[in-house]
Amino acid sequence: MRRVFTGINASPGIAIGRAFILSRTLQRVERKTIPEKRVPKQVKAFLSAIKKSMKEIETIRARLGADKAKELSTVLDTHIMLLQDDALRNDVIKIIEEQKVTASWAVSEHVGRFNKMLANLGGEYLSTRVADLNDIKNRILRNLGPGGGICCLDEAPEGSVVVAQDINPSEAVQINTARIVGFVTELGSKTSHSAIIAKAHEIPAVVGATGVLQNVKQGTRMIVDGIDGKVILSPTRKQLAEYENKRQSYKYYVIELLSAADLPAESRDGFRLAIEANIESPADVKTALRHGAAGIGLYRTEYLFIREGRIPTQEEHLASYKQVAEEIAPHSATIRTIDIGGEKLVDAVEMPPQRNPALGLRAIRLCFSRREIFKNQIKGILRAGLHGNLKIMFPMISGIEELKKGKAIIEECKKELRKAHVDFNADMEVGIMIEIPSAALTADILAPECDFFSIGTNDLIQYSIAIDRANEEVAYLYNPLHPAVLRTIKMVVEAGHRHKVRVGVCGEMAGEPLYALMLMGLGVDELSMNPVAIPAVKKVIRSSRLCESLKIASKALGFQTADEIEAYIYNVMSKRYPQEIATSLFF
Ligand code: PEP
Ligand code: MG
Repeated sequence: MRRVFTGINASPGIAIGRAFILSRTLQRVERKTIPEKRVPKQVKAFLSAIKKSMKEIETIRARLGADKAKELSTVLDTHIMLLQDDALRNDVIKIIEEQKVTASWAVSEHVGRFNKMLANLGGEYLSTRVADLNDIKNRILRNLGPGGGICCLDEAPEGSVVVAQDINPSEAVQINTARIVGFVTELGSKTSHSAIIAKAHEIPAVVGATGVLQNVKQGTRMIVDGIDGKVILSPTRKQLAEYENKRQSYKYYVIELLSAADLPAESRDGFRLAIEANIESPADVKTALRHGAAGIGLYRTEYLFIREGRIPTQEEHLASYKQVAEEIAPHSATIRTIDIGGEKLVDAVEMPPQRNPALGLRAIRLCFSRREIFKNQIKGILRAGLHGNLKIMFPMISGIEELKKGKAIIEECKKELRKAHVDFNADMEVGIMIEIPSAALTADILAPECDFFSIGTNDLIQYSIAIDRANEEVAYLYNPLHPAVLRTIKMVVEAGHRHKVRVGVCGEMAGEPLYALMLMGLGVDELSMNPVAIPAVKKVIRSSRLCESLKIASKALGFQTADEIEAYIYNVMSKRYPQEIATSLFF
């Protein structure tokens, strides 16, 4: 049995725990009773899961070539027929209502009864029907989502290291930090959203660790080294002692960093950078403040949809942004309008199947096609703007037309609010993410139309170098130090500054001590990052000088390859800041 695996260090720290294997095919549904008042909601969830399942099958059929469609048409017809079957609907609803259980349990119960009956009858035809029924059951259960009551992560005992093929955003938001000490996935990269969430929860994580699932058993003792990207199964006593030491020293290092977190990010020659935090929920504001954030530079509001498993109301948008505005005051918070699509699929927002989701209907593009969802959010932000300093930011802007269209929708929302006599802040800053090369190249055209730029390097790198940011196979190409990326950042900064527009960076690159001085030297005004990254980045900036950072940036821009730039930056930074660079995730 293989015991040591190398993967990508996605969230620093050392975890020692027992494996909790999250396997979707092994998903077990527990019997959960619910209060009477939740019964109608479960029935509704079940009916919409049926509808969604039928739509999925129709889409599969539409995507099949003529030959395949013919070959599979009986199977697909059978599945549709099973989903339309009144007996299924009535029986499941009856189970929910009479037993007061979740829709997931009721579906499993119904299919279980049926399977038993068919198995007693025997025969090949009937065993095919059992397979069809199970297929349908899995589809419905998946479409019921975590809100429907199936969530294996819920069952993780204390001290668990979650091991999975991948963890999707809707699972990641349910990570219970009291019980889960680490996680390991076979897929993913440093900037996949599960990695970002692990970091925000300070849970050590290794992603892209191929082969672990084949070798691990439920409950196996294991070590996750999120600093060096290593996973060790069934460690020896010696390894346990060694990693316990490493765990302790990392813990003390973090405590020491935190003690200076509130000091400003000011270089020794008096240059100040604004350091802000990226958050996924209002609850993260406390963590951001504890780590020394002077504002929220990016609120990823799509998590409101992901967490609730449904489309929030305008009042819920308002409440969420109001809470952020009040808790972060007197600092500001930048509310990014939803970035749904791509890697971040949300059950509540129906999307057509897309061959290439990262290049498809995502973020602002989706908002333009689902205007009501967008307008509700904009109105919520405008109203919450009365309670603090909030800014609106559009993601995935590709050119000036989209920016103008987005701004026109803001004006439309203001008009409607006025007409309805609802108070709001009419004077909020509007900015955009620069994360698509076409926006970077036209930054000089975009700048006069907005108040700020925030460079989203996670996507900018993905789209500039043409690598899927969540694909571990090409993760080796994902290099923030590619000369194209540095040139793009410089160009955007210059275009912004020519029009007196502030330029920040809010991708994972901003939270990396290794790059802090280079970004400062490139002229960036703000860095917004995972809250836990703030103290180390501040420490680097506080012990530096502006002239030193200008030299680093200019030298870096002079190299031809990412490797040369990396060797240079690493050399300079690891001599000056050995400890910060030793825990760096990007090296
Ligand atoms: C980015 O792309 O750099 C970014 C900050 O946005 P997200 O990671 O949410 O796509
Ligand atoms: Mg992005």
